[in-house]
Amino acid sequence: MSVDTEPESPRTYQVVTYGCQMNVHDSERIAGVLEAAGFVPSLIDPGPGVPADADVVVFNTCAVRENAANRLYGNLGHMAAIKAGRPGMQIAVGGCMAQQDKATVVARAPWVDVVFGTNNLGSLPVLLERARMEHVSQVEIKEALETFPSNLPTRRESPSSAWVSISVGCNNTCTFCIVPRLRGRETDRAPEAILAEIRTLVSAGVQEVTLLGQNVNNYGVEVGDRQAFAKLLRACGDIEGLRRVRFTSPHPKDFTSEVIAAMAETPNVMPSLHMPLQSGSNDVLRRMHRPYRRERFRGILAEVRAAMPDAAITTDIIVGFPGETEQDFDDTLSLVHEARFAAAFTFQYSKRPGTPAATMSDQVPHEVVQQRYERLVQEIEKISWEENKTQVGRRVEVLFAEGEGRKDVGTRRLSGRARDNRLVHVAMPDDPAERPRPGDIATVEVTYAAPHHLIADAPLGELIRTAGGDAWEARERAESGVAEGVMPASVGGTTQNIGGTAPRLRPGIVQGDD
Ligand code: SF4
Repeated sequence: MSVDTEPESPRTYQVVTYGCQMNVHDSERIAGVLEAAGFVPSLIDPGPGVPADADVVVFNTCAVRENAANRLYGNLGHMAAIKAGRPGMQIAVGGCMAQQDKATVVARAPWVDVVFGTNNLGSLPVLLERARMEHVSQVEIKEALETFPSNLPTRRESPSSAWVSISVGCNNTCTFCIVPRLRGRETDRAPEAILAEIRTLVSAGVQEVTLLGQNVNNYGVEVGDRQAFAKLLRACGDIEGLRRVRFTSPHPKDFTSEVIAAMAETPNVMPSLHMPLQSGSNDVLRRMHRPYRRERFRGILAEVRAAMPDAAITTDIIVGFPGETEQDFDDTLSLVHEARFAAAFTFQYSKRPGTPAATMSDQVPHEVVQQRYERLVQEIEKISWEENKTQVGRRVEVLFAEGEGRKDVGTRRLSGRARDNRLVHVAMPDDPAERPRPGDIATVEVTYAAPHHLIADAPLGELIRTAGGDAWEARERAESGVAEGVMPASVGGTTQNIGGTAPRLRPGIVQGDD
């Protein structure tokens, strides 16, 4: 337990995030809640092998990844030594692993001060304070949602692109997935609240929103409105200043023609679709409890492509689900071949404690899973490279972002996403005044294609300086303490990414090692 010392200056925090976009967005809320309570983000780079270093370290955990528990307890073990040398330090564990393991966390790592669940993020400051005063670990896991997380303060990581939750929880029962057990049944947020949040974001400079839900196509289920998601997309189209709308993830079972029409007919809804396939075998889909079949999946793809010929479609695939035969795997390969995904996230199946699939008797031997996985990855890489090559010579609109290109410093490029969500690394002009900032938009010509990204080394086309770029520049100034007018004209901190200096870590939230 922590030692009770009276802090003289604001206490610092770091949030270590594991897992999916839901968790990334939850970490923005955890940071927002902590800042509203007077904490400030730590600027310390914890260094290699050290998860975090701050007065309060929050692990926002994931239960979906393989060995999630081992990783968490390994990191907590590491933190025990750091905490011993840092009086007053507190450690909190939240997210799906906390929801799943509850009291076990404190039993295995008694130096943890607070364990909180996915349904009560807002309680964190109170629990930290109570742990500090009472010298007793606080464990508070709520089974039901206390307040829709979007009502909590949020510290947004990007001034130009934002996650917006439309629902939490999931009503499906995929046999490999722990989410329904940990996040509960779906709760939808009122469309007025969603649209109001988006308008507020846009007025602060946001150019792009991604609507988030475990199954966005089921949005509206609570009020029995099958068209609710299509209506929401169309309503986003009416928001002035909102340039790009994306969403993740849709479930093939609930995909409607109205959603496809809304995507195609709403100019700011982007021509990109991430739709998890999981398997191309009907038998495997049945055992996964995914109530669509390959024919339905192919039908949706055909309809999307007819409505949006330039749409880039990406997917998730699990290899080696229990009982998967060579024929089942061939069915996946053949569907991949036909679908021509722009990219696919591939996963080797491994047991997740607490899921029905973990107890299935016909687990596939690891060597077989590995071999199929390699074959699948090879096929996907070949197709996505071929698809990317069709982009060479095209002019595409790129929304620049911070942190998209790991090599930007050395290559003198700035990276961003095309409208179809392809990653594009763009050569920067020599004149700093002509360079875009993260949040700005430019039209560029694609000059080279790799399997996972595009390069645009031709001179920049039309550059649009957006309110998102202004917001990014203002934040850079505020965080670096540079006065107005002192940063290089019109390029803000972009110069720090070009010609040698490594991009600065965003304070407060760090990515876990998964
Ligand atoms: S749709 Fe299936 S995989 Fe997705 S969150 Fe729900 S249960 Fe999990």
